[in-house]
Amino acid sequence: MNREDFPMMNTGYIYLDNGATTWKPKYVLDKINNYYTNYTANAHRGDYDLSLKVDSEYENARDIVKEFINANSRKEIIFTSGTTESLNIIANGFFKEILEPGDEIIISESEHASNILPWFNLAKTNGINIKYCPLDDNHYVTLNNLKKVITKNTKVISLAHITNVIGDLRPIKEITEFAHANNIFVVVDGAQSIPHIKTDVKDLDIDFLAFSGHKMCGPTGIGVLYGKLELLEHVTPQNLGGGMNESFDNVNEVYLKSLPTRLEAGTPNIEGAIGLGAAIEYLQNIGLDKISEHEKNLRKYLVSKLSEIKHIDIINEESDSGVVSFNVDGIFAQDVAVYLNKYKICVRAGSHCAKILKNEVGVKNTVRISIYFYNTKEEIDKLIELLKDKNKILNEML
Ligand code: PMP
Repeated sequence: MNREDFPMMNTGYIYLDNGATTWKPKYVLDKINNYYTNYTANAHRGDYDLSLKVDSEYENARDIVKEFINANSRKEIIFTSGTTESLNIIANGFFKEILEPGDEIIISESEHASNILPWFNLAKTNGINIKYCPLDDNHYVTLNNLKKVITKNTKVISLAHITNVIGDLRPIKEITEFAHANNIFVVVDGAQSIPHIKTDVKDLDIDFLAFSGHKMCGPTGIGVLYGKLELLEHVTPQNLGGGMNESFDNVNEVYLKSLPTRLEAGTPNIEGAIGLGAAIEYLQNIGLDKISEHEKNLRKYLVSKLSEIKHIDIINEESDSGVVSFNVDGIFAQDVAVYLNKYKICVRAGSHCAKILKNEVGVKNTVRISIYFYNTKEEIDKLIELLKDKNKILNEML
């Protein structure tokens, strides 16, 4: 679908590592290029036309994000460098100040490092306890399992909407409903979901949401922190400096600007925001429903083909997204990736930053295929052809 929009298609690679980052369409590249070619200036600073144009494009990108996730207000959209920074801001700028020793945060063992390590840090500094939601037989989080670990001390549940190794879609709406009835905040890591499924923060009643531009056809170094306005108002800026202050004097009196600028100190990632806005326009033009449908069908095809191969063990046969993790019997995951690379097929191998998932799944490393709307059956056929013959893999690994 829409393959002609992507200059990277001319390289001849078969790119199946979209969970790591996606390729960028010309539409996005042109928007970024246009900023540097035709209206380079800083944002929020100028009293001249060029800078006003930058302001208007930068703030327009914020409006595009707001509409995309159906936020209530543009003030709820903070540009960050990505999911990782967004989650760190939530942990350190909000929860660090309100959590007390003995409070509990629930995560799962299939979270990405970015949704584990900031909480580990709070455990150290604030004396809070980290608890893990037990996963079911498919390695999924269910509300019933969450209820088993929720106690009166639970203050936060922080989960990926879709995980990056198992690819399961968590029942966020059910979770927020139960959590909010029990005064528990819900943080959602949307890195692997926002690019693939329609997400409505109001309908899901999410308190905080983090995602990255580069996994959704946008540039690297830009992402979003969404928070309900009444919560974001209490987030302490982790960066202090230009742009975010109204005024200060020489006796330490600092007056900060209102949201969203208060949380965006320094020169922002202007090209990033403009690029992300363009990426969202591009995805919306195709339609998120169409994207999800294509990925669902392609996943089905991939899993059916992989399961015909006796020496392949699929870790997440039943899953909801375009992420398929597997191993080839007796062959180290990295060796499989290196073998496929000889044929210009890009897949990821390793623990995929979900380093404690091995406790649940029983294997440390896997080969991961993560598809996007521009992948095709023909590409899957080429992959399957190369994986079918185990002797060929063994011979060519040497
Ligand atoms: N969470 C999940 C589920 C991810 O897959 C990733 C990226 N692999 C991240 C968080 C971190 O995203 P970023 O590196 O863009 O900050």
